[in-house]
Amino acid sequence: MATDMTVPDVHLHIGDERRSTGGAGLHEHVYPVTGEVQSAIPMAGPDDVDQAVGAAERAFTTWRSWSTWRRRDVLLRLADLLEADLDELSRLSVLDNGMTPLLGSSLASGLIDYTRYYAGWADKLEGRVTSLPANGRELGYTMPEPFGVIGVIITWNGPMISLGMKVIPALAAGNTVVIKPSELTPYAMERFMRAVEDAGIPAGVVNVVPGGAAAGEALVRHPAVKKVTFTGGPATARRILAACAEHLKPTVLELGGKSANIVFPDADLDAVSAVNSFTVFEALAGQGCAIPTRILVHDDVYDALAERLAARVGELRAGDPFDPATNVGPVVTKAAQERILAMVGRARQEGSARVLVGGGQPGGELESGFFVEPTLLGDVRPSSEIEQVEVFGPVVSMLRFRDEDEALRIANGTEYGLASYLWTNDVNRITRLTAELDAGGVYVNGAMPVLGCELPFGGTGISGFGRESGEEGIREFLRTKAVAIA
Ligand code: NAD
Repeated sequence: MATDMTVPDVHLHIGDERRSTGGAGLHEHVYPVTGEVQSAIPMAGPDDVDQAVGAAERAFTTWRSWSTWRRRDVLLRLADLLEADLDELSRLSVLDNGMTPLLGSSLASGLIDYTRYYAGWADKLEGRVTSLPANGRELGYTMPEPFGVIGVIITWNGPMISLGMKVIPALAAGNTVVIKPSELTPYAMERFMRAVEDAGIPAGVVNVVPGGAAAGEALVRHPAVKKVTFTGGPATARRILAACAEHLKPTVLELGGKSANIVFPDADLDAVSAVNSFTVFEALAGQGCAIPTRILVHDDVYDALAERLAARVGELRAGDPFDPATNVGPVVTKAAQERILAMVGRARQEGSARVLVGGGQPGGELESGFFVEPTLLGDVRPSSEIEQVEVFGPVVSMLRFRDEDEALRIANGTEYGLASYLWTNDVNRITRLTAELDAGGVYVNGAMPVLGCELPFGGTGISGFGRESGEEGIREFLRTKAVAIA
């Protein structure tokens, strides 16, 4: 059966309006698999953003006045509608950025899980009593309150899961949102908005302004936006923080990573290669923030793991994500492809890594798409560019270590601190290293972050601050009011 390549018309969603045009003209969306233009999408300008924030401000009065159980129920309805539409959300996620249908489906399922999870929090947000009338002179208590309008700026690698991690808890806490998605991924977002409307969420509670940096900047600077939650790179995060300084606006920043995967001699090497190959190459051609891109391997098992991984990576097949034989799709743009290939080229030239597998661009029928060969680098030199800077492509670095101290030094030796991974069965080693690793999360023996709603996720250093998921994730969208009655 031929693959359905139709894409929806994309709109700006402002209050109860769906607009086909925006103040910043049109963006030609290019399908990274073929390099061809799929459709032109409207781009929001500063005036559109201003109107979206106005709509969100007006809707806040209504949304906030809803009982918590009513908000819970409407979010549960949204989850049901998204679930009924899972196949289409997955298909459009592939057409957005070339991810595999398997990942498209996992991320959209993640959004559904987050929606149910935070719907469950909506009616359980309580304050506490701090002094009792019987034994104090005052009755003191706290009230968790929503901020108002939240500005949500997300990137292109996993928009559906970003909605689950940011928009859903913001709504469950009683806020309204203006979302500035990346112009590179418009289609599944359009479908999400259909479910938002059908679920009965009042107009203006969720607004979407597709656009580029200028739209993002207008949103961040808008005085009626009370908090900003951002997923993207550290360079943009610095600009956002500088803009937020004007109104002393709080932020949640989920940025990149250079996560270490530390493999000790007692590790199950087949499991290490399977998990590493899946998470870095097959999931999204290496375009994930928290994936284990630096494998630190104990000298005793380095050669054995290098051999297994090389065999596995050599078998991966890049190609059309809709082809069931494909396990690695393209990277998102031509510019990303060129940047990644240039980084690998420099590592090779400088002698800071040995190319064990890949390192180039696949030819033949894949030449017009934005493909990069799954690439395994061996004996990578600590402190080299390829070891320090996020590649955001299908490239994994292997490094040797001799003892725990050396492993820790290399693992903690970048400016990032999003995730760390450990492979060992020694529980004392696990607890020791968990305390020493400078990262927002430590994941052991194949555990992975992000898709579980319950555990908080976030970074240290230039991986950002604030937390998403779990109770911490909804608390980011609440502020505490203290009340004392004499
Ligand atoms: P980016 O920072 O260039 O863009 C992210 C978003 O910010 C886009 O929507 C963009 O239009 C917007 N933007 C750009 N300039 C802006 C400005 N001045 N003001 C406001 N908004 C602006 O990031 P990218 O290259 O699209 O995404 C890749 C990065 O995202 C990587 O570093 C990756 O690790 C990171 N990422 C992090 C996580 C996480 O949860 N930690 C998840 C996915 C991706």
